[in-house]
Amino acid sequence: MIPPEPLPDTGLSPNELARRLLAQLEPRRDAWLDALLALVEHESPSRHKPALDSLADLLSARFAAAGAQVQRLPNPDGGDHLRATWTAPSHPDAKPILVLTHYDTVWPLGTLQTMPAQIRDGRATGPGIYDMKASLILAEAALSALQAASVPLARPVVLLATSDEEIGSPTSRSLIEAEARQAHCTLVLEAPLANRALKTARKGVACYRLDVYGQAAHSGVEPDKGASAILELARQILAIQSLARPDLGTTINIGLIAGGSAVNVVPAEAHAEINVRISTLAEFDRLDADLRRLQVVDPRTRIQLTGQLNRPPMERTPATVALFHRTRDLARLLGLELGEGATGGASDGNFASAVGCPTLDGLGCDGDGAHATHEHIQIDALAPRAALLGLLFALDPLPGL
Ligand SMILES: [Zn+2]
Repeated sequence: MIPPEPLPDTGLSPNELARRLLAQLEPRRDAWLDALLALVEHESPSRHKPALDSLADLLSARFAAAGAQVQRLPNPDGGDHLRATWTAPSHPDAKPILVLTHYDTVWPLGTLQTMPAQIRDGRATGPGIYDMKASLILAEAALSALQAASVPLARPVVLLATSDEEIGSPTSRSLIEAEARQAHCTLVLEAPLANRALKTARKGVACYRLDVYGQAAHSGVEPDKGASAILELARQILAIQSLARPDLGTTINIGLIAGGSAVNVVPAEAHAEINVRISTLAEFDRLDADLRRLQVVDPRTRIQLTGQLNRPPMERTPATVALFHRTRDLARLLGLELGEGATGGASDGNFASAVGCPTLDGLGCDGDGAHATHEHIQIDALAPRAALLGLLFALDPLPGL
């Protein structure tokens, strides 16, 4: 439970702080909503540098106006990344809280024509509003509300707003890992689970490709001279699929296959693309070794496996559980009851967790439809969710560690 002691610098109890934050945030909800719709109207697909950089301009200005020192990290291979720091004057040397956000979306330019940014029936819609432009506004609103209430931060807050999460974070991964190594804990502002639960575990992802080489031959004239790569691939697919251990969280999806050159030619080539999800690194090591031991059944064919771990699993460590319990207790002060859950999907939280930083995910806004045409947020969740972040920033997500 949350200790009843008042905050050192303000004399506010956690309960009073919760009320004060809501009193700051509720009356300004429509202004925050307008700011959010403006971010959504600024489309930002992961591979469109000009669109991304122009949204980064807007975000830099917003974060700076909210009291941050903003560093722009130039990225020749995509949108620039942003690193915004809010200092904690009474604890300048404390390890910071790392807040992970991304400002790219899966939606191409022009999506607004069919999915406009608008308000209807208590919901706000638009491409990327839930995943995760609302989260950028939540963080800004939380930090602004603390400033307006003259409540200091328990620790410095370092917020990363990256531009390539939706394509696997190729250019931001090393930055995220470096920041997480320095951080006290990591809060990931991806959306909560459907029942509003926070995420304390995420599966890791590995991607492989299996190429099979056989021998081509005319299927009518001399079929015996051929060695079918497609037939061998079919055997390999069954062998690969048998390596899954759903009881341990290890699942395998062979989502793409291709091969052959014509219907009357014994196929000389075929390949499959394999998507693997694992809950633990130990399971990844087991499966990776098994895949590399695959043997051909037809000795005239040859196989070649390429691929690797893309995102390591975010494992449910004791520190992450402590972080969850603290957050759940703080949420209760705001009348929010938040459960705990796991997901098979990966996020940048996987990278932070894998370098040993206690990581909690799912701290974004309530809503639904990530990557889907019904994407939306619940407008009445904006103020309490921002207030929850404010409580975490002011009261320390993991005191005593
Ligand atoms: Zn996201």
